[in-house]
Amino acid sequence: MDLSGLTIKKAYQGLKEKSFSAKELVAANLMEIKKYDQKISAFLAVCQESALKEAKKADELISQGKNSFLTGIPYSAKDVFSTMGIETTASSNILKGYFPSYDATVIKKLKQAGAILIGKTNHDPFGFGSSTENSDFKITKNPWNKDKVPGGSSGGSAAAVASSMGIFSLAEDTGGSIRQPACFCGVTGLKVTYGRVSRFGVIAYGSSLDTIGVITKTVEDAAILLKEIGGKDENDATTLNQPVPDYLKTIDQDIKGLRIGIPKEYFTEGINKEIAEAINKAIKEFEALGAKIESVSLPYTEYAIPAYYLSGISEVSANLARYDGIRFGYSEKTAKDLNSLYLESRAKGFGPEVKRRIMLGTYALSAGYYDAFYKKAQQVRNLIKQDFDKVFEKVDMLIAPVSPFPAFNIGEKAQNPLEMWLADIFTVTINPAGIPGLAIPCGFTLDKLPIGLQLIGPQLSEPTLFRAGHAYQKTTDWHLQKPNLK
Ligand code: GLN
Repeated sequence: MDLSGLTIKKAYQGLKEKSFSAKELVAANLMEIKKYDQKISAFLAVCQESALKEAKKADELISQGKNSFLTGIPYSAKDVFSTMGIETTASSNILKGYFPSYDATVIKKLKQAGAILIGKTNHDPFGFGSSTENSDFKITKNPWNKDKVPGGSSGGSAAAVASSMGIFSLAEDTGGSIRQPACFCGVTGLKVTYGRVSRFGVIAYGSSLDTIGVITKTVEDAAILLKEIGGKDENDATTLNQPVPDYLKTIDQDIKGLRIGIPKEYFTEGINKEIAEAINKAIKEFEALGAKIESVSLPYTEYAIPAYYLSGISEVSANLARYDGIRFGYSEKTAKDLNSLYLESRAKGFGPEVKRRIMLGTYALSAGYYDAFYKKAQQVRNLIKQDFDKVFEKVDMLIAPVSPFPAFNIGEKAQNPLEMWLADIFTVTINPAGIPGLAIPCGFTLDKLPIGLQLIGPQLSEPTLFRAGHAYQKTTDWHLQKPNLK
């Protein structure tokens, strides 16, 4: 039996029926890392010893019949999640040598639920990027074609799940960092409603945009996980005080009569032809399942990139002020006084994309420019949100592409940061609006690169997105395809 390729659901059943042990399951996933991660470079750290120890405990729980869905399930986490005693770098030199003294709320919740952390994954530093090429440590490769990027910023997480190194991965999405890499690697990616999942203990990018979600093999697995990680947290004042439903209870309901909007601004000339074709085919599939399709308009989409980047980098300039060479991670030993310690630690610790964002963000917030940039961006952000509010009076959900093109070549956009930012056109709209999005695989290009679509709904519409995504995955097999890693 192939123990590394399992979903949470299948692994849970196998563990319950004692077809294999948690130790065998964890060992099989660690073995994939050992065999293939030299080629993929998805991981920054592997926690082999602690994972095997926890697996032993999970087997004890299982033998006593005290297991739940996640007992013994091996997973990875993007390196922005604080993990007690395990180095947490945000893929930046500035945090090299930082070992948090506590766990992020989500890590704690997963631990309590019995899930087993097998490693921390590579990504663009602090979540800044769309290709994982900005990491200070390594470039992760796309498992479907090693000359291509895995997407970003959570490229390591998506590549790990696509390569069966861990059953799922915990990640973060500020403007597409879960959905776009999931799409490039042919796996499922959930970006939740803002405030649905606690951000406590997660290294911040833009606090008003950051959301914590998961990359999985199926929609069903994402539904299982959100039930475990969602909910109010007294350590994060922005978490919603709303009950977390049992998403599995409604996931099998049919989607007859579900009203799905197709935003015309997302199907412009710039979109790759094979992607447009695959998504149109998927729309027909949803129609065959009983959904009612209609064309809708989100007129402010064209302003989403500047509004998102101005908001995001302004928050970056504030959030990254804490890395001063004293409190966390890297500290320049040769500095001769306090001021040079700050300057030299930051100059050496931050890479070019991080510096670019801090400088632009500081500029956008400075006196005299604040009204022209930051305030304008907030006004546009409101208009974008109103676009969605209006559309969701008419339809229950939207279908849109995740990216205008499939995974691109490593190096292709690295020299042109503006081009890299423009690649986010279809994902950055939904974070300023605080609404959820679910990316699912829906085809392949002729050269066998995954294509994905995203389902977008109003705030807290995760049950509807799961239901629709699951209905689609029950009738298609794109999500079951695996890359050949050999
Ligand atoms: N690519 C986007 C950016 O660089 C999204 C990043 C994210 O969601 N963390 O800002």
